Amino acid sequence: MALARREFDAVVVGAGGSGMRAALELAEANLRVAVLSKVFPTRSHTVAAQGGVAASLGNVAEDNWHWHMYDTVKGSDYLGDQDAIEFMCRTAPEVVYELEHFGMPFDRTPDGRIYQRPFGGHMQNYGRNPVERACAAADRTGHAMLHTLYQRNVRAGTQFFVEWIALDLLRDAEGEVLGVVAMEIETGEVLIFQAHATLLATGGAGRIFASSTNAFINTGDGLGMVARAGLPLQDMEFFQFHPTGVYGAGVLITEGVRGEGGFLLNKNGERFMERYAPTAKDLASRDVVSRAMATEIKEGRGAGKDADHILLKLDHLGAEVIHKRLPGIRDIAIKFSNVDPVKDPIPVVPTAHYMMGGIPTNYHGQVVVPDGRGGDQVVRGLYAAGECACVSVHGANRLGCNSLLDLLVFGRAAGRRVISDLREEPHKPLPSDAADRPLARLARLETQKAGESVAEVSAEMRRVMQTHCGVFRFPDSLAEGVKKILTVAERAQRTGIQDKSKVFNTARVEALEVDNLIEVALATMISAEARKESRGAHDRSDYPKRDDANWMKHTLWYKEGNRLAYKPVKAKPLTVEPFEPKTRVY
Ligand SMILES: Cc1cc2nc3c(=O)[nH]c(=O)nc-3n(C[C@H](O)[C@H](O)[C@H](O)COP(=O)(O)OP(=O)(O)OC[C@H]3O[C@@H](n4cnc5c(N)ncnc54)[C@H](O)[C@@H]3O)c2cc1C
Repeated sequence: MALARREFDAVVVGAGGSGMRAALELAEANLRVAVLSKVFPTRSHTVAAQGGVAASLGNVAEDNWHWHMYDTVKGSDYLGDQDAIEFMCRTAPEVVYELEHFGMPFDRTPDGRIYQRPFGGHMQNYGRNPVERACAAADRTGHAMLHTLYQRNVRAGTQFFVEWIALDLLRDAEGEVLGVVAMEIETGEVLIFQAHATLLATGGAGRIFASSTNAFINTGDGLGMVARAGLPLQDMEFFQFHPTGVYGAGVLITEGVRGEGGFLLNKNGERFMERYAPTAKDLASRDVVSRAMATEIKEGRGAGKDADHILLKLDHLGAEVIHKRLPGIRDIAIKFSNVDPVKDPIPVVPTAHYMMGGIPTNYHGQVVVPDGRGGDQVVRGLYAAGECACVSVHGANRLGCNSLLDLLVFGRAAGRRVISDLREEPHKPLPSDAADRPLARLARLETQKAGESVAEVSAEMRRVMQTHCGVFRFPDSLAEGVKKILTVAERAQRTGIQDKSKVFNTARVEALEVDNLIEVALATMISAEARKESRGAHDRSDYPKRDDANWMKHTLWYKEGNRLAYKPVKAKPLTVEPFEPKTRVY
């Protein structure tokens, strides 16, 4: 089938914070840029970010980027690349002020500066005591950020393709990426978007788990496209569980609640974090708090009739603080757990939240693969930024508020790199088989009779991931998980849909999304089973310690043959001395 084709200088897949920050850079440089999104741009998951964006502005207490960098390296459990982490923390104040000047409605301190609150793992003086580093707009920071970036993009003339789903990358024989094939959800029309630069900004894939804070659209599409194109996915075993998802619903209660002074209690009313993290207490980093909560529950000190959750107390902050700084949280608690936090504690459990791994990139946003000599080689024409990318600044565990920062820093950097890489030349001819893969996927759904049910396959995938690859990981359970997820992946190749209509056929969209979720689930389970240590979010009962001698390296998973490879961590920063690995205590 010959597909219609449109040409652009750059195509950005994803209109969340990272995609829109990158697109803004491109549109302001007068490039022809297309931004594709499955949903209206301001409905991207970035809109749900509550707590804030990290930057060492020092508006409330003394701070500097060296401390921020130290916290991020330590938070990553020494798996983060120190060149990229230095770049991010050093650039943070600049991109946050830039956002302020774009019109972002931050909360203010009494003297008119950007308001900052404490957040988990962000400390003063190389880990001494918590510091106010999260720049916040009440508990709706992502909402404010996304709207600000959208409005700037409209002004700059970015062309949005709303309710378009990108299906697969186009590559030529040399491996250069020439654009994407995408489908318009409203009409079912399939189109080639050809571009000199393709930038993936498709966000996370929390939907591989049964209990998740992520939006339904967070299905790891960019990762699926990359895996099918023969490129690796990096560090996929590291999935962050957020300590405070609403019990039963999974909806997020921001760490900002603890930043404002809330704390966790077990069924005895004990503030147990004092035992696990004597200095940072409830503001220790997320992996530490999630494990402490899971331990309390496992040892029978959970709250409720089934002793299966923890209580988050904030009534002592007073109604005024809750109304002013945490209004959205109060709404969520009332809606999803029927509790008014002004009076009673909120029941919470650790919930899948953030994917530390992703598409391997350098700190310019270029997608990289190993060059066979221990270094990196750039994939021409392909860039990635935001949660779908693994730069890697978050290593084995991300600090709260470092993701919104990552979107701004690396969205902008990737945009700038696209501009400097761009050559004045006509678009290359497309190989005749360029669109074969996505067309075959669509054709299968078209012709498949009596296929596997998409809903059943995806529910089984979520169950397997939740049971076998959760907060605590056990060797037998992981091995069984690998077997089960391989079976689910096999079933996923035979999914079919009853409704073959074209117009707004969400069944077809869901079937295409499940293809992507499955790649992410496979990569996560197989990488986790292979990593024989505990580091950051990856906690194994049979290897309870971090093992720097054997495992201070990044995992690469390839779809072809479910193969794993490893590459070294970049331990050398750009301008400062490296932070040497130490035992992590909070
Ligand atoms: C509830 C919640 C609260 C959070 N709070 C914070 C916080 O306070 N601070 C912080 O730093 N981080 C926070 N995070 C993490 C952070 O918000 C996310 O990591 C970040 O917003 C992801 O942004 P993104 O630009 O990578 O992708 P997203 O914002 O997820 O956007 C992805 C975009 O890609 C598009 N897309 C995906 N697939 C396709 C496809 N196939 N074709 C076309 N378009 C596609 C989508 O339509 C969407 O526009 C939070 C996360 C959650 C879930």
